[in-house]
Amino acid sequence: MRLGKTAALSHPGRRRRHNEDAYVVEPPLFAVADGMGGAKAGEVASGLAAAAVQESVNRDDSGEARVAALIEEANRRVFRRAHEDRDASGMGTTMTVALVEDDHVAIGHVGDSRAYLIRGGQLEQLTDDHSLVAELVRSGKLTPEEAETHPQRSVITRALGTEADVDVDTFSVEASPGDLFLLCSDGLTSMVDDETILGAVERTRPNLQEAAKALVSAANRGGGEDNITVVFFEVSDESAEDTEDTVRTARLSEGEDTMDESDGQHVVAVAEPKRRGRALPLLGALAVLLIIAAAILWLLGQS
Ligand code: MN
Repeated sequence: MRLGKTAALSHPGRRRRHNEDAYVVEPPLFAVADGMGGAKAGEVASGLAAAAVQESVNRDDSGEARVAALIEEANRRVFRRAHEDRDASGMGTTMTVALVEDDHVAIGHVGDSRAYLIRGGQLEQLTDDHSLVAELVRSGKLTPEEAETHPQRSVITRALGTEADVDVDTFSVEASPGDLFLLCSDGLTSMVDDETILGAVERTRPNLQEAAKALVSAANRGGGEDNITVVFFEVSDESAEDTEDTVRTARLSEGEDTMDESDGQHVVAVAEPKRRGRALPLLGALAVLLIIAAAILWLLGQS
């Protein structure tokens, strides 16, 4: 068994000006984070958590222990910043991480972002939401239908960054060739039902980037009230494309700015903390060059 194609897409939705979601596609690691907090603190929280996952690529532990350790590290970073920076006080983020290893996928999870498995034409939700309504449904006080329209359905009961320690759910799934895993933020699942997700994936597969676009479009058609992020990875058999191709596909999908012309919406891949990090030194260098040029021009004017 090996990792097949991957794809990812994040979109601010139709109501929010900022995108506070972040994602990581760093095979064999994948993650989605949905930040919250005043001003731009939500972006800071999800960005810090995503960076913690991205920088953990060379760790030597494995499986659920590794996934839990890197979510705990993400929690420490967000918590520390929330205490150092007054503007970031009270911020937090969800985080759902998947690590593909040998014949299984280890998943770690905090909050109401989700992991799904699409196998044999069925969509299975793998994670339990850490949200008020999900807990009320689990304890029998609310039906799943009531939860869908509950006014407090976006209240989460567990997040990264709000406490010094975090309780992480971890579990492993035996993977088989043909399995398709989906990580997503609640901006998808609060706007779109399971049938729509499955239908969109079946119509567009094997093109996962098209599937990602179809899900973002469906969430926007459903109202687009929140930021929408989807990450796909597929498990293929030994005879399928080699891992080199897999990595290339991932890089392409990360850097690609896509315009979804089918329904006139801009679908832009954003919330990729690594790229932001690279752009800043370049901008700094450019600013220094401009200052030097201005100084030379001024000196020439003096003489
Ligand atoms: Mn959200």
